[in-house]
Order: sequence, then structure tokens, then C-alpha cells
Amino acid sequence: MKIERIELHVVSIPLKHFFETSFGRVEREVHIIVKMYGEGLVGYGESAVMTDPSYSYETIETVWHIQKDFLIPALLHKDIEDIESFMRMVSTVRGHHFAKCGLEGAYWHLCALQKGEPLYKMWNGTRKTIQSGVSVGIQNSIDDLLSRIKQFLDEGYKRIKIKIKPGWDVDVVRAVRKQFGNIPLMVDANAAYTPDDISVFEALDEYHLMMIEQPLHFADLTDHAELQKKLKTPICLDESISGLRTAKAALALGSCRVINIKPGRVGGYYQAKKIHDLCHGANIPVWCGGMLEFGIGRAFNVSLCSLPNFRFPGDVSSSSRYFHEDIISPPIEFSHGELTIPDEPGFGFQPDDNLIKKYSQRSYIAPE
Ligand SMILES: [Mg+2]
Repeated sequence: MKIERIELHVVSIPLKHFFETSFGRVEREVHIIVKMYGEGLVGYGESAVMTDPSYSYETIETVWHIQKDFLIPALLHKDIEDIESFMRMVSTVRGHHFAKCGLEGAYWHLCALQKGEPLYKMWNGTRKTIQSGVSVGIQNSIDDLLSRIKQFLDEGYKRIKIKIKPGWDVDVVRAVRKQFGNIPLMVDANAAYTPDDISVFEALDEYHLMMIEQPLHFADLTDHAELQKKLKTPICLDESISGLRTAKAALALGSCRVINIKPGRVGGYYQAKKIHDLCHGANIPVWCGGMLEFGIGRAFNVSLCSLPNFRFPGDVSSSSRYFHEDIISPPIEFSHGELTIPDEPGFGFQPDDNLIKKYSQRSYIAPE
């Protein structure tokens, strides 16, 4: 596949409802959409990075810089034979996983269109129908949280995840269990606690949570291993798993019993699949997290969830969960928490160039 042209578009879409985690509150999502042209086809990818370096060190500005000044020059006008060749070409850049992921997605999309195959089949996905969970941010009050959870349960979501932070944790979980009984429930701390907070985790351990996600430091594996020994509830790692090597270390140390795979965080879909396969072999279930992706990133995640070891409902939910308008048509809509993966070539949904243009703040076209 000869790469003839690559475009970057910084796209900004307002959220229907603010989303708050232990990092803070966001009102709109800004991501970079990649368009890659080759052999008469156009592949689309998405770097679903945040605008500030809170979740990861990458931001819109670092992704733009690394893509424009390093990754695009490494790929443009090259004849890229297969995904292994692609990975070698981008390996001259250390880290910058969200930047790589957007370009890698566009390359996968191009290859799938060229072969006339759906992506999930190229990735050896076995599951045709996937289930959706929902991630509920920190609200202004427990009453607000309970009413939002009720709404999502009514919509059919298969699992509720609530974001926690110090001061918004045990009381909140107690109230949710009291109101909704034994629903599939988990919490995500986004690294907001330290080992000194053991009493919080011992209290949470009594509520039969499916898992506690990323309780401790974003780069830690050893404190998590110590904490996991003390808890019945499985620990799920998100931020700490930056790629295949940290996944191997986490499994060796016993730092977690579940891994949340986000393609942008781990360096793309090729790496995501490698981590999936490693965990599958070790009987550690994985599930697909989310970065409030627009439809393109969301569609890739849908395809990824078809792999057999994605054993919990992911954070991959309907476009309408977050946005009034998405940049693909039709938008991704789960019905009663389930979605059947389309069998069309590519990722099963059509990107809408008019909507990308409508929400685009700036663009870069290579060659200039
Ligand atoms: Mg998380």
C-alpha cells in the first residue's frame, strides 16, 4: 500500500453533559482525525487524546507535533507492505502512543478497504455481538448520580462504572448498592489514591464490585500487587498498562486480575491485540475502555471488542451517550446494551466529511 497523502484535522465537539473524573471536568472533546490516502482509497483514524496532560503526558498539541514532524514524514510516499512494516516505521519515535494510534488506525482502515474485509475479521474477532457498559462521571450530588444510573439501566447498559475520588467513594457505592441492589457495578479511581488509603479499599471490598480500576499511581505495578493480595475484589489496571511490556510485568507481579485495554494508551491496535493475546493465554480477562471517542475511534473499539478475551462489557457505548451529533453515519447506537458488528468492509460505519469539516478547528495536509 503506497501512502500518497495524509491529512490531520483537529475536531472539537461539545458533550451533551459534562464528564468529570478525579482529574477534573470536561465540557467538550477535542481529538485528531487522520485521513490517509492510498491506491484510490481513504482510511480514517482517530487520536482520542485529551487536551491536557492529565490522563497521559500526551495532548492535542504533542500529538499534532509528533504526527506532523516525525510520523507523517516516516510514512508518506512509502510503500508499506504490512502492519509489521508499519510498526517498524513508527518505532523510531519512542512513546507517543495516542499519536501513533490515529495513524495506525487509518492504515488498518485502508488495508481493510483494499481487501474488502471487515476489520474485526482481519483481527480474528470471534464475537459478532458486543455488550456495552457505561462510565458515569462524578456528579454534583449522590441524588444526581442515582438518577443518571437509573436512566442508563433503563436504556439497557449491561454494566455500570462509577468514577471515584477521595470524598466520593464508599458512601457513593453504598448508596448505589442500596438503591439498585446487585447490579454489575465497578469503580474507577484514575489513580487518585495511595497505599495509605487501605481503609477505603477494605470498605469497598465488602460491596461485591466486579473490579476496582486503577486505584493507585498511574505508573505503579508493585503497590498494586501488594494491594491486590489484601483484597477479594479484582484490581483492574488502566493507566499503569502502557504497553505489552508493562502488561507482562503486571501479570508476573500479580498487580491485577483484569486489564482495561485502550488502543491509544497502549500504542495502537496491533499492541492492543498483543496484550489481548498475552492475557488470553494467562486467563486474565480484558475489556475495552474509552476516551470518549468520536465515531471513528469508537468504531475501531467496537471491532476490537469482537476478540474472544474481551470478556466484560466495555466503555464502548452509543454515540448519543455523549454527543448530539457524531462524525459517522449512521451513528453507533446500541440497542438494550448490545450491538451487532456490521459486516461491511472497513470498520462498518461511514465517516462524514461534511461533519468533520463542520467541527474542524484546523487542518494539516501532507504533502503541503
Ligand atoms: Mg480508567
